[in-house]
Amino acid sequence: MSQGFDYDLIIIGAGVGGHGAALHAVAQGLNTAIIEAAEMGGTCINRGCIPSKALLAASGRVRELRQTQHLRSMGVHVGEVQYDRQGIAAHADNLVNTIRSNMTNSLKRLGVDLIQGWGKVAAAQKVTVETPEGEKNYSAENIILAPGSVPFVPPGIDLDGKTVFTSDDALKLETVPPWITIIGSGYIGLEFADVYSALGSEITMVEALDKLMPTFDPDIAKIAKRVLLDSRDVETYAGVFATKITPGTPVMIELTDAQSKEVVEVLEVDACLVATGRIPVTNKLNLEAVGVETDRRGFIPVNDYLQVIADGEPVPHLWAIGDATGKMMLAHAASAQGVAVVETIQGRDRHVDYRSIPAAAFTHPEISFVGLTEPQAKELGESEGFEVGTARTYFKANSKALAEAETDGIAKIIYRKDTGELLGVHIIGIHAADLIQEAANAIANRQSVRELAFNVHTHPTLCEVLDEAYKRTLEAA
Ligand code: FAD
Repeated sequence: MSQGFDYDLIIIGAGVGGHGAALHAVAQGLNTAIIEAAEMGGTCINRGCIPSKALLAASGRVRELRQTQHLRSMGVHVGEVQYDRQGIAAHADNLVNTIRSNMTNSLKRLGVDLIQGWGKVAAAQKVTVETPEGEKNYSAENIILAPGSVPFVPPGIDLDGKTVFTSDDALKLETVPPWITIIGSGYIGLEFADVYSALGSEITMVEALDKLMPTFDPDIAKIAKRVLLDSRDVETYAGVFATKITPGTPVMIELTDAQSKEVVEVLEVDACLVATGRIPVTNKLNLEAVGVETDRRGFIPVNDYLQVIADGEPVPHLWAIGDATGKMMLAHAASAQGVAVVETIQGRDRHVDYRSIPAAAFTHPEISFVGLTEPQAKELGESEGFEVGTARTYFKANSKALAEAETDGIAKIIYRKDTGELLGVHIIGIHAADLIQEAANAIANRQSVRELAFNVHTHPTLCEVLDEAYKRTLEAA
């Protein structure tokens, strides 16, 4: 244990990032405490990954069983399919409770001190915690800030939590509105569009940028629009801002053209989900005490080792991880950052390799990607002087997808033509979120498609969509 300190490591925030850091720290023998102001598990467990995947799983079954034509093509006949909204909501809630208590118990069992209250930086290597019993002070050799993020609500939008809400309230599934507008076509908006459309809502999706799903590779976004939105009667607007949203019955939504700045339409709908991104929870961390200023949007400035930066220099013994760093707002990225910081603290300097961190939208079918999009790869190629190759394979040519009668989708790989290095992989199709992992591992090892083409994949599996794509690059060579 560090001499003269209460702890070797104190972590502010018990989300996935803080949790990942704490687990690795105790495994390394560090005397560790974690401070949490609300529920253990943060966004992912309570208001993010976990409940959303439970809703997607249940509503996905409803969709599948209602696709009677499709099932009949496989010789399966089903009667009328009904669901119970409260039962689906309870499935999500029960899952959250189970995972949260498993996580809390495992931290306690491993000897991590859980301190309930609002943590603030008091001075170098010191924190204060506002607890129900009053303010408490602790010191630690190292401090990790992992305060996470909350939904961003643009100006002009009023929430009432019932008719106009963010994902925090949508996850409770208190209603299935007949007509809902979803503001934002990022993965959160898309996942909720999947849930609501499966449960029978009509949907209008509004995106401020000129293209829907702006973060996806353009080829994937095109297919996702056809499969996930157009074929489900989801009405879409791009290049349009929701400038004013007033809760009530009906909810009034004023839409303004992004170019002309003129109001183009006023929608009257039953409900509105605002999914316009997330902002860090950094304003009451008292970072001024150590001279740290957050950036314009509130993210904590860090260097490659996730040391917090003040006036261009790292603040000794102060680190930040997770959504609050704005690097990659994903649970597994937060956790990887936590592990990397503990490694660096232990004298084994470690960076996070963001290029190899995969991401997924758990829609039906799923979308996943890792590494660069084609436009990003081309831009890099231009600056570094290499040509970019691509190869595509189709789920409709994959035996397992055909057996499942789930043939919508493609896998697209992007690589350097000179060295063969795999730069990016993008998949839309059944189980895409699971399929992406082998590509992520390949990118982490900077492998060439020419080596990957000789790996042997089980037949018949969906993995063969990637096998096939790697092999196509040999034909092109
Ligand atoms: P958080 O999980 O936000 O945790 C931060 C914690 O710190 C919170 O518990 C907060 O109460 C606490 N805290 C903040 N300030 C203080 C303070 N001063 N003192 C004490 N405690 C404090 N990611 C995925 O990878 N896969 C998914 O499928 C996925 N789905 C998502 C679905 C939705 C609807 C949403 C909203 C997010 C989803 N995410 C998903 C993103 C993921 O939830 C976040 O990236 C992840 O939770 C970030 O972890 P974190 O540890 O940085 O912060």
